[in-house]
Amino acid sequence: MITCTRRIEFDAAHRIINHESKCKMLHGHRYALEATFVAKELDALGRVIDFGVIREVLGSWIDNNLDHNTILSIKDRDLGDKIAATTGQKIYYIAENPTAENIAHHIFAEICPQLFADKEVKCVAIKLYETPNCYTNVA
Ligand SMILES: [Zn+2]
Repeated sequence: MITCTRRIEFDAAHRIINHESKCKMLHGHRYALEATFVAKELDALGRVIDFGVIREVLGSWIDNNLDHNTILSIKDRDLGDKIAATTGQKIYYIAENPTAENIAHHIFAEICPQLFADKEVKCVAIKLYETPNCYTNVA
């Protein structure tokens, strides 16, 4: 199987409701996301998909929704409303606690299928680094 993977980095804040330690505080990360794609067959030029197209499609979505934003659980809407009222940010909410695992699963299961629905590729894995030493992999 031939895959292609594009790395996209972004900065975002989050907090983990009910975390046992410091991660319950609002704090930020330099996230690094690696999105892996497959195609039924390579295109005429021999590619799964042009790396630039991944950057354009998924990278633009990340720029518009996650980069320099705050990612919160929908259960944290009171905090999100206060941040939004103060900063004008459009908080990005996900259904679950915004752990690396849940953010990666959200992008894998909900965002990539929509973004690449009109392309001849399928996202088969999302690796999300929360720090240089810690990552999650959804496939
Ligand atoms: Zn964190």
